[in-house]
Amino acid sequence: MSDTAAPLAAPLFDRVAILGIGLIGSSLARALTEYGVAAHVVCADRSAEACAKAMELGIVERATTDLAEALDGADLVVLATPVGSFAEVGERIGPLLRPGTIVTDVGSVKQAVLRDVGPHMPEGVHLIPGHPVAGTEHSGPEAGFATLFQGRWCIVTPPSGANPEALDKVAEMWRRVGSTVEIMDANHHDRVLAITSHLPHLIAYTIVGTASYLEDDTKSEVIKFSAGGFRDFTRIAASDPVMWRDIFMNNREAVLDILQRFTEDLTALQRAIRWGEGEVLQDHFTKTRAIRRGIIDARQA
Ligand code: NAP
Repeated sequence: MSDTAAPLAAPLFDRVAILGIGLIGSSLARALTEYGVAAHVVCADRSAEACAKAMELGIVERATTDLAEALDGADLVVLATPVGSFAEVGERIGPLLRPGTIVTDVGSVKQAVLRDVGPHMPEGVHLIPGHPVAGTEHSGPEAGFATLFQGRWCIVTPPSGANPEALDKVAEMWRRVGSTVEIMDANHHDRVLAITSHLPHLIAYTIVGTASYLEDDTKSEVIKFSAGGFRDFTRIAASDPVMWRDIFMNNREAVLDILQRFTEDLTALQRAIRWGEGEVLQDHFTKTRAIRRGIIDARQA
């Protein structure tokens, strides 16, 4: 465990209800229990199979397909379904929430949470959105693990006027599962993540798609020589299709903006190759190498 986790402190929450027991939901459920952050952790999922799996794996105390049953007595509710489902989930849980409840989420885009969930929150319920910048390309309750958030950032994006105690509790929860918390405006979050996460995924999806359109014999060569860089893209392009559809549908402006910049930069490199400007390429690659070293120094590699 990292030195930011505090397993011996009293539980922050009595009862946490996690909605969506996939990779992130099940990892958080495991971590909240393992590090004593919540006295009781229950979950709701639309899939009876996922609920059965969560019980079989001992991830939660109770798993149900019934939202009302999961929310009963919860002092923290965590939305851990794809971002595109938040409006519907928000609408369904709104009438079930009692005043004083804190609602958070783990969605990869943040303005959409305020837009889609915010209007459904009754008076006295505190919505404090969050995004753990941690994950893998796997999905489902079996894919999760308690240490997923350790040494990772969690970006919390409270709306203006958010309840300070609720904000403190959500931030503290992430610290206790090993993350470092950064408080950020939702709009800024979406712009930063567009370049650090969304664009790289789009590029990976494109490259792997392009390769798969090639002739059969060439395709086998692609697999054979995949260690030459392509393999890393295939791992990223194996990420959950629904989750990524929803990210692009809900961070449209920031992604299109950064894609425009990227296209211009790509064209500049294309031009350097065409005109044999080796020094332009070398300068560029030298700068990007320094960025990689910076990431390693920041322990985010
Ligand atoms: P996941 O493993 O696929 O789990 C998602 C869960 O939500 C599944 O149990 C799924 O049920 C359920 N679900 C899907 N669509 C739903 C709907 N319309 N209504 C209700 N439930 C629905 O996904 P995940 O990777 O944990 O992602 C969950 C959230 O975490 C997303 O908002 C994502 O943006 C965010 N996040 C993901 C990562 C990552 O790397 N994976 C990192 C940070 C944040 P079914 O099995 O029936 O579809």
